[in-house]
Amino acid sequence: MNLVLMGPPGAGKGTQGEILSKRLGIDTISTGVMLRNAIKEQTEVGKLAEGYINEGKLVPDDVIVAIVKDRLAKPDCEKGFILDGFPRTTAQAEALTASGVKIDKVLSLEVDDDVIVERLSSRRECSKCGAPYSVLFNKPAVEGKCDKCGGELIRRADDNPETIKNRLNVYHEQTEPIKDYYAKAGLLVTASGADKVEDTTKNVLAALGIE
Ligand code: AMP
Repeated sequence: MNLVLMGPPGAGKGTQGEILSKRLGIDTISTGVMLRNAIKEQTEVGKLAEGYINEGKLVPDDVIVAIVKDRLAKPDCEKGFILDGFPRTTAQAEALTASGVKIDKVLSLEVDDDVIVERLSSRRECSKCGAPYSVLFNKPAVEGKCDKCGGELIRRADDNPETIKNRLNVYHEQTEPIKDYYAKAGLLVTASGADKVEDTTKNVLAALGIE
């Protein structure tokens, strides 16, 4: 299965991507994770991306398209993949189509803006392995520590109120129109991501027709 996960920031793409990845035995490719790693390592791409990410803006299409094309050409993608956070503009969706990579389904996680603001404000992630947590909805066993690897839990630099607002605007203006693009191609399915993780997973599996 070659799958695209869509939805506003904080819709649960990372969490559901991880669950689907285990279930289907294919990797999740998250452009956000790739860019944050590039920033940590201060690569050329990382240095370029940092300003955009911290302001809640999108990294230029040509930069991100090149990174994703490179990643999708790796042999492990032959058995399938889950794209999390790409494409995010119509130009990126068109570039993906033009690259000849076949997409089987595009799943859009639907969550209202007020829920997103609450979620992103309480979100934390492991600084070592990137596992997602929330100080309200998904607390670790030991405060501030990752259950999986013991890494320190941090708040993402772009999860602050001003940037959250920008990211939601960017989503509605630049990313949401892609839903039409994929609906016309007959690939779009939707699932509510408004409730608990387990409920969203049920909705996701049903939307994808996975037993
Ligand atoms: P995410 O972890 O998916 O929320 O992405 C975090 C940030 O990385 C976004 O707010 C963008 O600044 C940048 N980013 C991630 N994916 C893309 C993309 N496909 N196109 C442009 N910028 C992206």
